[in-house]
Amino acid sequence: MLFQSTKNRIALISVDGDPAADIGQEEAGGQNVYVRQVGYALAEQGWQVDMFTRRSSSEQATIVQHSHNCRTIRLQAGPVEFMGRDHLFDYLPEFVAQFLRFQKQQGFSYSLVHTNYWLSSWVGMELKKHQPLIQVHTYHSLGAVKYRTIGDVPVVAVQRLAVEKACLENVDCVVATSPQEQKHMRILVSTKGRTEMIPCGTDIEKFGGVERSVAREKLGIAADAKMVLYVGRFDRRKGIETLVKAVARSRFRGEGNLQLVIGGGSRPGQSDGFERDRISGIVTELGLQDCTTFPGRLDDSILPYYYAAADVCVVPSHYEPFGLVTIEAMASQTPVVASNVGGLQFTVVPEVTGLLAPPKDEIAFANAINRILSDADWRDQLGAAGRQRVEIAFSWYSVATRLTQLYKNLLAQSANKSQKQAQIAA
Ligand code: UDP
Repeated sequence: MLFQSTKNRIALISVDGDPAADIGQEEAGGQNVYVRQVGYALAEQGWQVDMFTRRSSSEQATIVQHSHNCRTIRLQAGPVEFMGRDHLFDYLPEFVAQFLRFQKQQGFSYSLVHTNYWLSSWVGMELKKHQPLIQVHTYHSLGAVKYRTIGDVPVVAVQRLAVEKACLENVDCVVATSPQEQKHMRILVSTKGRTEMIPCGTDIEKFGGVERSVAREKLGIAADAKMVLYVGRFDRRKGIETLVKAVARSRFRGEGNLQLVIGGGSRPGQSDGFERDRISGIVTELGLQDCTTFPGRLDDSILPYYYAAADVCVVPSHYEPFGLVTIEAMASQTPVVASNVGGLQFTVVPEVTGLLAPPKDEIAFANAINRILSDADWRDQLGAAGRQRVEIAFSWYSVATRLTQLYKNLLAQSANKSQKQAQIAA
């Protein structure tokens, strides 16, 4: 069989974040959405896109065909069951071997891989030892920043920090998703290596098409309710505790129409259940159980209604390299109150599309939430400005167009280099 490299065939590798998975539970969040949406958008722009991930359940199909030129391919590496990302490193050599085997079976090799999260960066760097390959990488989270915000640093931290450094210094280009992430790379990881800032995006058609009143009717939320929304995974670094404590201080609490909705998360027995139970315990302890709901994982068919129904969406993370929820809420014309950290400082323009508050500071969050809940006209102005900002800066189409340009430049540079080498050798 002819072993050929096809120029427009690219692989997105996301060992731990399955682009075809249900989003919002266990560890499935922004990375999964990013890989899936970037994959779809790149395929629409003419690339043949294969998205590689680890098979984590025997019920999962090995190949999911999303469109004629975009598919998810699940490789077996380690036990076919859910495993936390901090426990996957030892299975990566098997992932590399399976990837190489897949290429051989198909009779082609990829000329460019875009790897996601540090685990996949290691896979990409190993693949480069086997074939000519351009590697673009997106971190999604930097150990060097994350480990400064948590108390219990995992055993794999040393390995992760070393791989992240090697990646920045050696791959063809690292894509930072916010200027803040780009700065963190330079200050905390390495001054060497090429980086480019291309933000994450969102679906500006899916989000933003529903009126607040229509959304409330659908969800059974009273027209005069003051609705505060959280959407995301149950993970301590998401700071949900700060939000609950802030709501407990709200001056609207006594008026009886305050409503806190904490969307996302698990079915019983899943790995994020511990944090969900902890948050639920705080809700009860603070006497908020009557005005708080946990609707669980929100899928694509219902999520736009939650964003549209809310008066304010709160993103209280301790660390956030980008934060897709923020731009989804903004696209839905809902103002955001977010922590003054990482990419949230980039997406939220304070006093224009929402407000920023110091992480873990429930008093500052309470004040910010109160300000928005007290003034419906200002809420609408902030919402309209948020929508405008997302349309200009954060559509998946514009993200894919910028990635396409980057890939094409890197492929052209590599072709020039090979041509020159061939001329010298001749
Ligand atoms: N999400 C979802 N349903 C849920 C909870 C979250 O679809 O019930 C999605 C959310 O819309 C967003 C992603 O999960 O696209 C979370 O991304 P973000 O960057 O905000 O956080 P991360 O998970 O990367 O920490």
